[in-house]
Amino acid sequence: MSDAREKALQTLKDKRRWYERGLAFRCKHPACDRCCSGAKGPGYVWLNVDEMRAIAAHMGQPFELFTRHFVRQIDHAYSLIEKRNHDCIFLEGGACSIYEVRPTQCRTYPFWPEPLKSPESWQAEARECPGIEDTAPVVPGAEVELQRTLDEAARAEYDNWP
Ligand code: SF4
Ligand code: SF4
Repeated sequence: MSDAREKALQTLKDKRRWYERGLAFRCKHPACDRCCSGAKGPGYVWLNVDEMRAIAAHMGQPFELFTRHFVRQIDHAYSLIEKRNHDCIFLEGGACSIYEVRPTQCRTYPFWPEPLKSPESWQAEARECPGIEDTAPVVPGAEVELQRTLDEAARAEYDNWP
């Protein structure tokens, strides 16, 4: 078991999270692209510098060129730009064109701190994400906690420009 996974399991035991028995979720991508598209209006895909470097390398672009073309600054943090219709700039034909190196927030959704606050906020998130449904397979509590922890760690680096 990796260190991060072991730590998540321990946190789950120590803090008695309400989702310790796991949560029913299975992403419906590519049949669904709701969290990448502009269907809900404008949004942000936050990312930190390590994630920018990874995407730039994946695209074979110098870091500066990549950030000039694809990243915008919002206050003290950075987000990918959007298309005119508010789709993520990397959403192509309903799929993510940088899937292997997509930012952490894309990987960890819907196991973000806000939806995980309470059973009520999780149910509210189900209105945004069709993958959250009782018939979906259960993601174990330790995995949910790991994803939440990874998301928090990435957020802590959002305003850390070199
Ligand atoms: S909204 Fe939910 S089901 Fe749809 S692509 Fe996003 S995570 Fe997957
Ligand atoms: S980077 Fe990829 S996974 Fe993330 S919002 Fe954009 S298209 Fe979706």
